[in-house]
Amino acid sequence: MKYTQLDIAPTVGALLGIDIPDKDGDVIKEITDFCADKYIDQILLMIIDGLGAALWKKLNGALARLKALSDHGLFFEISSLPPRITTPNIGTILTGYTPEHHLLYKVADTFYTPVRSILELASEKGVKSGIVIELLGAKSMSNRVDLAIGVENIHGIIDYDQRITRLALKAFDLEEIKLMMVHLRALDNCVHHYAKAWDDLVFSAQTIDENCQKFCSGLRKPTLILVTSDHPVHVDKWAYLEDGNQDVPLMVGYVSPAPDDQP
Ligand SMILES: [Zn+2]
Repeated sequence: MKYTQLDIAPTVGALLGIDIPDKDGDVIKEITDFCADKYIDQILLMIIDGLGAALWKKLNGALARLKALSDHGLFFEISSLPPRITTPNIGTILTGYTPEHHLLYKVADTFYTPVRSILELASEKGVKSGIVIELLGAKSMSNRVDLAIGVENIHGIIDYDQRITRLALKAFDLEEIKLMMVHLRALDNCVHHYAKAWDDLVFSAQTIDENCQKFCSGLRKPTLILVTSDHPVHVDKWAYLEDGNQDVPLMVGYVSPAPDDQP
């Protein structure tokens, strides 16, 4: 069974006891089975911008912490949906609807849409949900979820991702968020703006992996971590790295701090 980006929101919904009306995706049973014997206090959905399945394999050493997480959990190669652009594809991941169904093509579309993502559906059901993303995206989600934190890229994309990570960890602790989505952009930003050689991609991937490590060591409650990407590399110069493959990885990990570490 080949899964797609449409299946992520229905799967998160199933774990939270929420059915998405008219969803286009299905529940990934391997994930609900993986969770069946675990106590899960909170869910982190991490979207790494611009990481296709073929690039993932090539970056393996640079993403060691992420690999370890999925080695102890689950790993899928899932189909990405056209148009393979950040906003509509994150829309697909969060809603479980095709782009033709959710119509979220630009950030501006997310302000007044009647379409509700799994984050809004969770919040409405009393499951505190939050999002830590770029400023405009966070503005569009404020009043739709329990906590929307916007981060501006002022000191470079690596600092931006680090602040996303720090703020998300704080929000889990201080606001008791149960479902959190974060968007890490260093890799896609590098590919778009400053990558001159393969080593630049490796460096960017390593910074993503460091943030993953911060999550794994900083989460203070038993947490299900889902890591995926919005689209494979879509910058012409570097697209060859994906070998014509339009899949993205979906990694599933579980972090349970030792009892002494818990508050
Ligand atoms: Zn993107």
